[in-house]
Amino acid sequence: MTCICPRCACDTVTTVATSPVHGVWDVLQCDRCRYMWRTTEPDRRTRRDLYPAEFRLTQADLDDAPEVPSVPPRLPGPATGRATGTIRNAAS
Ligand SMILES: [Zn+2]
Repeated sequence: MTCICPRCACDTVTTVATSPVHGVWDVLQCDRCRYMWRTTEPDRRTRRDLYPAEFRLTQADLDDAPEVPSVPPRLPGPATGRATGTIRNAAS
């Protein structure tokens, strides 16, 4: 089966993870725009023809992108080494 990126229509997609139970889902990543999706997500997230038009990208859009935003530094907190489930609001 040929798979294309829902966001930019690139036909080079890499499988980056698979479900522990074989054949249930895969996580795919576009080699061009880095969009990632799980194969079990809704069609509007996994199919180019149903992906929202306002969020679609072209090669020209990617060529003109000034930079990829960096990941901000971690917020201070307990060094437990695992997620706590708490979501912090950056605006507060
Ligand atoms: Zn893409």
